Amino acid sequence: MPHDPGADAPDPGPAAAEQRTDLAVIGAGPAGLAAALAACARGVRVTLVDAAPEPGGQFHRQPAAGLGARRPQALHHRWRTWERLRDGLAAGSVRTLTDHHVWCVERVPDGFTVHALLGPRQEEPAEVHARSVLLATGGYETVLPFPGWTLPGVVTAGGAQALLKGSLVVPGRRAVVAGSGPLLLPVATGLAAAGTEVAALVESTGPERLARHARALADKLPEGAGYAARLLRHRVPVLVRHTVVRAHGDDRLTGVTVAALGPDGRVRPGTERHLACDTLAVGHGMLPHTDLALSLGCRLDGLAVAVDDEQRTDVPGVWAAGEATGIGGAALALAEGHIAGCSAAARLRGTAPDPAPAALRARGRLRRSAAALGSAWAPPAHWAEQVTDDTVVCRCEEVTAGTVRHALDLGAGDERTVKLLTRAGMGWCQGRICSPAVAGLAGCAPTPARRPLARPVPLGVLARHHPQEEPS
Ligand SMILES: Cc1cc2nc3c(=O)[nH]c(=O)nc-3n(C[C@H](O)[C@H](O)[C@H](O)COP(=O)(O)OP(=O)(O)OC[C@H]3O[C@@H](n4cnc5c(N)ncnc54)[C@H](O)[C@@H]3O)c2cc1C
Repeated sequence: MPHDPGADAPDPGPAAAEQRTDLAVIGAGPAGLAAALAACARGVRVTLVDAAPEPGGQFHRQPAAGLGARRPQALHHRWRTWERLRDGLAAGSVRTLTDHHVWCVERVPDGFTVHALLGPRQEEPAEVHARSVLLATGGYETVLPFPGWTLPGVVTAGGAQALLKGSLVVPGRRAVVAGSGPLLLPVATGLAAAGTEVAALVESTGPERLARHARALADKLPEGAGYAARLLRHRVPVLVRHTVVRAHGDDRLTGVTVAALGPDGRVRPGTERHLACDTLAVGHGMLPHTDLALSLGCRLDGLAVAVDDEQRTDVPGVWAAGEATGIGGAALALAEGHIAGCSAAARLRGTAPDPAPAALRARGRLRRSAAALGSAWAPPAHWAEQVTDDTVVCRCEEVTAGTVRHALDLGAGDERTVKLLTRAGMGWCQGRICSPAVAGLAGCAPTPARRPLARPVPLGVLARHHPQEEPS
């Protein structure tokens, strides 16, 4: 008898919404959108699920509808691509569920159940039953701690960008943009174009590291030149091989101290200087979102979801694309999403995958440049030396660097033991923010954390899914 998940499932409560589909695509960024459109065009029923109020993901984040933005394209690159994706979604039959925060994907006999929480309060459950699942959950920023990083006025680089694109606001009047990685470029130029005075772009990587990968980065040159021209036009001073060593202020940020880095990645004594600012937008690269993949049992390759040439994970029926499978930018996410969507549709329909040859070529080329960028851009090798003992490392549990170091003195040699001894990583964010910092202080490589729930879930929702069995 075919399994009917509805027949023996516990009552999810009166508010629960339930959908059935062939393919559930989780994440409506470039990867998820391209995947959903490719699969839908090949005759598969697709449901696209995203936590955000609108599709677009991070790269194509749109201003909230109520803001009445007249020229949203002014804040965007590759607006034509967005128009193509948006119009494709409007014209096709992809079912789009926004404001759905997926906290778990469960394997069931006839496929998968995607469990989500609805809306900003995230208390009302919803479920999507799908024959296959495609994970396009993107990535999140790494921010390493330094003295003063918890002051109001210090924001993540991507957070500043999200505020600008999504809410049309700038985080302050005079900003320093700092850290390492390509994301700093759109953030600095975006803030400057929106009227913020950018006191400096402080990049810890030197151009010589990029030059070493010149061949692999050749097709990124026009984009790089475009950013350089915009930085010049807005008179943004660029400090390479520099880092922020301290943020200053009593109840909010008033300035930062920056210093030059020597060839060994250590701060060069005597090079410190003060920059007045009310905003510091800081980021040290990105990490893939792997929670849902890990809870499904998918294998990782390093810190990213491992996929084959068709973007299939090693769990049958589960595909992954975009930054969940490795940080590489929006264009790579788009190509991977298309390839994944074609493959998922073909496997569901019993046909052969037919991805566009251009997407296959783009994926190969862009993966090579992503790998080159990944090895060229890195935080200063000895950043942990700048972290004073009183600097908070785990913000949720308020664990300082001194407490982490004490745990290391007691013999802890890895993140997990530090967590058990100090509670670092046990709070609301479950170590998503502090994990790279704790690993850096411990001198070990970050390890992917296994979190059974991708989002905090109210106990009432869990209780309704798994009611206590009656004693016999
Ligand atoms: C804050 C931030 C800002 C960025 N801004 C820029 C920029 O301005 N320019 C640039 O070149 N690159 C930017 N990037 C990098 C950019 O995100 C990627 O290059 C590109 O968007 C990757 O596409 P993707 O489809 O893989 O993921 P994303 O675009 O990140 O899309 C992933 C989607 O998955 C959804 N999602 C994740 N987990 C869940 C869940 N559990 N339940 C439901 N939905 C979920 C998210 O809401 C998101 O919409 C930014 C990254 C971040 C983190």
